[in-house]
Parts: sequence; C-alpha cells; structure tokens
Amino acid sequence: ILRLSQLSKRFGQFEAVKEIDLAIQEGEFFTIVGPSGSGKTTLIRMLAGLEEPSGGEILLRGERINETPANRRPTCMVFQSLALFPHRSVGQNIEFPLKMRGVPPAERKNRADELLRLLRLPEDYYKKQVSQCSGGERQRIALARALAFDPEILFFDEPLSAIDYRLRKTLEKELKDLHRETGKTFVYITHSLEEAMVMSDRIGIMRMGELVQVGAPDEIYSRPANRFVSEFMGEVN
Ligand code: ATP
Repeated sequence: ILRLSQLSKRFGQFEAVKEIDLAIQEGEFFTIVGPSGSGKTTLIRMLAGLEEPSGGEILLRGERINETPANRRPTCMVFQSLALFPHRSVGQNIEFPLKMRGVPPAERKNRADELLRLLRLPEDYYKKQVSQCSGGERQRIALARALAFDPEILFFDEPLSAIDYRLRKTLEKELKDLHRETGKTFVYITHSLEEAMVMSDRIGIMRMGELVQVGAPDEIYSRPANRFVSEFMGEVN
C-alpha cells in the first residue's frame, strides 16, 4: 500500500533519515523501532504528510504523495500526547474530523456510536467530558477519533510511551485486536523492541537515520542482521 524509495530528510547539514527503501503491505501492522534520535519520528511524520521529504519518494498505491498535505491523505496519525480537546465531550472529540469534512450531524452521531462500541466504551460516554476520563479511556477515544473518517492507514507515534506498565500491556493487546478487527494498515513507532515484538507483523529497525533490518519478529529474534540489532535485542531479554 505504501512504498518508500530512497526517502531522505535533511535538517541543514544533518541527515535525520537516510535513503530509506521500504514497502509496507496493505493490512499489515508494521512497527519502526530504534533508539532515541534514530529518525523514527521524522520518518513517520513524512509518511503522514507532516514533514516534506528532502529526497526520494513516497508512493501510496503507486501514486506519488510527497507533497500531498496531511488532510488530503487517506491516513491519520495518533500522537503520544493524543491531542484531544479535554473540555469537550467524548462525542465532540470523535466527531471532530467528520465535522471538518462536512459530514452532517446525524451521520456523525451514528459513526461516533459505532466507534464507541468498537473501542468498547460505554454508550453514555458520548456526552462525558474528556477531562473526566481515565488515561486508558482517553487512549481509546483518540483511537476512535483517528478511525472516524475511515482512513486507509493509521500512523502511531509512540502512543503508549507515557503510560504505566500494566495499562500499556492492556492497550497493546487492544491495539492488536483493533488492528485485526478493522483490517487497516497500522504503522507504529516505538523505542521499545519488546512492544514491537508483541504487536507487529513486521518490524523495521532504525539506527542513525538508516533502516538496518526489516523482518518478522521471529526472524529478527533468531537472525539479527548485525551487532547493533543483537545488542538492541539484548535489552528485551
Ligand atoms: P525520539 O524517540 O527521541 O523521538 P526519533 O528516533 O523519533 O527519536 P527523530 O525525532 O526523528 O528521532 O530525530 C532524529 C534526529 O533528527 C535527531 O537527532 C533530531 O535532533 C533531529 N531533528 C528532528 N527534527 C528536527 C528539526 N526540526 N530540526 C533539526 N533537527 C531535527
């Protein structure tokens, strides 16, 4: 569904992402993992249309989208900060992207109810203020909002990194279930190889702007491409 060819990003002299070639399949849960500063955020921001590449190409179903702005792409990004409106209701938050696209109120309400069910949030949360919801609930609301306009690809920028261990484990499982239930393409970034191993169909490992290995979790586990990958993996065991 997504093909990157020689994709690069420079900030002045500094090359944050270096000539990455990668094909992400439709319906795949693909995770980009790497230490802090390896270029993960820069890469996913280019894929989501929040940053323009300095070189190479991004093809979505074969069509070049390098310059297509984020709101014109059939994709959506879920941030670590979630970026919800705390003083609005859950319903208003979920419906926001639909409102932006001019969807009529009755249709928006139906879609929001559907998403509350999908994310297993109680129906009466529609009217509840986001500031009164727990961390885990907010995570589900952010996911519901990301799914509101039925994007083809969802991008996740470390959505679970600020969450305590137990809740994170629960949410990892929920994300995996959600991926299965929706059949959508998920592209996820994290610095935690453990998180990547649990959730992903395939993992891409980044180091200093380069993609050093791509493979299924068991492939990476049993055949690390180089010392960096095996050492990085050592932190999981
Ligand atoms: P983290 O997990 O800490 O967010 P990351 O792997 O996502 O790290 P990036 O945020 O993509 O890494 O950053 C990669 C490198 O690019 C870093 O060295 C960072 O300082 C640099 N960088 C990112 N954005 C900019 C910018 N707008 N201007 C200059 N340098 C930047």
